[in-house]
Amino acid sequence: LAKAGICRIAMARGATMELRSLGASGIYVSVLGLGTVKLGRDQEVKYPRGFKIPDDAAVRDLLALTRDLGINFIDTAPAYGNSEERLGQLIDNPNDWVIMTKVGEIFENGKSSFDFTAAHTRMSVERSLTRLKRDSLDMVLVHSDGNDMHIIENEGALPELQKLKEEGLIRAYGMSTKTTEGGIWIVENTDMVMATLNLGDDHDLPVIARAHELNKGVVIKKGLQSGHADKSAGGAGVERSFEYIFSHAGVSSMIVGTINPDHLRENVVVTNRVIEDLHAKGQ
Ligand code: NAP
Repeated sequence: LAKAGICRIAMARGATMELRSLGASGIYVSVLGLGTVKLGRDQEVKYPRGFKIPDDAAVRDLLALTRDLGINFIDTAPAYGNSEERLGQLIDNPNDWVIMTKVGEIFENGKSSFDFTAAHTRMSVERSLTRLKRDSLDMVLVHSDGNDMHIIENEGALPELQKLKEEGLIRAYGMSTKTTEGGIWIVENTDMVMATLNLGDDHDLPVIARAHELNKGVVIKKGLQSGHADKSAGGAGVERSFEYIFSHAGVSSMIVGTINPDHLRENVVVTNRVIEDLHAKGQ
């Protein structure tokens, strides 16, 4: 252990990537994780350019490259079309990965709907277990529709996830939030949050700071502004985005969605360089 909660593992072909503990959950995730919206959904998405959902061979190659580069962490959701099913079919050793999935958002016939009841939550977790071919799930998040406090105060999803954890079917749970108030409640009362942070949106900084105080997991979404951070899309650049995100203590991992192997390699190189620089400065 280089320092508490951080370790580095040597991966195939000599690549390394830092693993960080997800709060006190006992789960170690690579500082960069792979987002998988584009493996299963091409409608109602906010990317700067259109794209084609990759075929099975391309997904297998992408997953092999991901693992070779030192990434052990994948983010998926029932809301990402058939992303969960494809991961279950195309990952050879599901237990070699830390997989995070969600409950609450349903994406059918090109449209999202939401169900945060206890019954739907249990059904969704059982379905994810089947789709992902796992006996238990690493992390499950409530996929917020934006009304975080309403879900927290009135719906059955979070208490049901607590029950599922006690039953041993999930290891950690929390919420992918959209509001600062919701994020703070979540880090005070669950294992982890998926929060937004990028060069154009810092509304979750108080959530990340509170999680850090409480040793709770923080996974960042939309760090590259869904692709708009790229200079060719008019943004400030991928490198500046990574520097900004990893400069914040308390970030366990950042999920970046990509189906482009060159982008994946670039993201790993830049992340490793940024993390090295931060350690050299004593952070
Ligand atoms: P993101 O990670 O900020 O951006 C992904 C986009 O950036 C993709 O279109 C990708 O295009 C592009 N990209 C990646 N690396 C790049 C590079 N080096 N240079 C140029 N472009 C690059 O946004 P996101 O997909 O919205 O979110 C990431 C992940 O977070 C998702 O896959 C999903 O797993 C999760 N997410 C969760 C929620 C939630 O509510 N829980 C919401 C949104 C997203 P290429 O494919 O061409 O590389």
